[in-house]
Amino acid sequence: MPQRLSAYLQNKYGKKIYRLSLASGCTCPNRDGSIVIDGRPLTQGCSFCSEGGSGEFASDFVDIDRQIEDAKKVIAAKTNARSFIAYFQSYTGTYGDLTRLRELYTRVTERDDIEILSIGTRPDCLGDEVTALLKELNAKKPVWIELGLQTIHDATARRVDRGYDLPVFENAYRRLKEAGIAVITHVIFGLPGESGEDCLDTIRYLSALQPTLDGIKIQNLQILKGTGMYREYCESLDSNGAERGDFHIMSMEEYTDLVAEAIALLPKETVVHRMTGDGPRWLLVEPKWSLDKKRVLNMLTAKTRDLL
Ligand code: SF4
Repeated sequence: MPQRLSAYLQNKYGKKIYRLSLASGCTCPNRDGSIVIDGRPLTQGCSFCSEGGSGEFASDFVDIDRQIEDAKKVIAAKTNARSFIAYFQSYTGTYGDLTRLRELYTRVTERDDIEILSIGTRPDCLGDEVTALLKELNAKKPVWIELGLQTIHDATARRVDRGYDLPVFENAYRRLKEAGIAVITHVIFGLPGESGEDCLDTIRYLSALQPTLDGIKIQNLQILKGTGMYREYCESLDSNGAERGDFHIMSMEEYTDLVAEAIALLPKETVVHRMTGDGPRWLLVEPKWSLDKKRVLNMLTAKTRDLL
């Protein structure tokens, strides 16, 4: 059966490894107008993505050693942490000047306190030169590449302005795996127009990937203030605030049941990094139950007890 990330790290490294949320200073091609779909440059990002580029917990870009030291202080206040994952979540961590990316990530991998370099990015920002750089870094420290796929269904991907179709993911996945790099895929359950079966189709597809997918992050759709999705959601409500159109905000029970079904489909080699969304509380509009993280995690733990 698949492992949770904490168990995987403990088994592999024999110690606890804590995640530091860091900023790469990169932007996103889905926000700067570089991606053009049907003659329309995308400037608002994926419609579910907040202004912070899905990385509100990373600090703004300052010198990377200073960012790491500051982030360590926050964790050290609660733990005796010594080893860390340098996690570049926000925006597109492989998008930008290659020389700058090389310097940034080389400095990270040369630090003794960093065990793993984890970079969130898009499959269309992994050209040959970037992949060669990642391979080079991976020879020094494990590199994880996190790809925000969200869904395998191209109709949904276009609906949320993801800005690429599934073959782009397949191509990047194959090249990353050929380079020996671990790939973690992000999936969102509850995107507009998708049924539970559609979500499970995404998991079935990922479960069948060869070579096997290294890790997965599953989260529920979160409607965040200021996003395109928020505007569409508000417009979809009738005068009584009832849902219409293709939006359906799942209840906690529905979502946790679906996650349990998804976990049961995963191969044992795929590590489960996350099973719920952790967007910024101050922007969250729906689902309100995801504010009660402890309750959600307890329910997920109970429903996946025999599966993880
Ligand atoms: S989710 Fe990722 S790819 Fe989409 S707009 Fe946000 S940072 Fe860009």
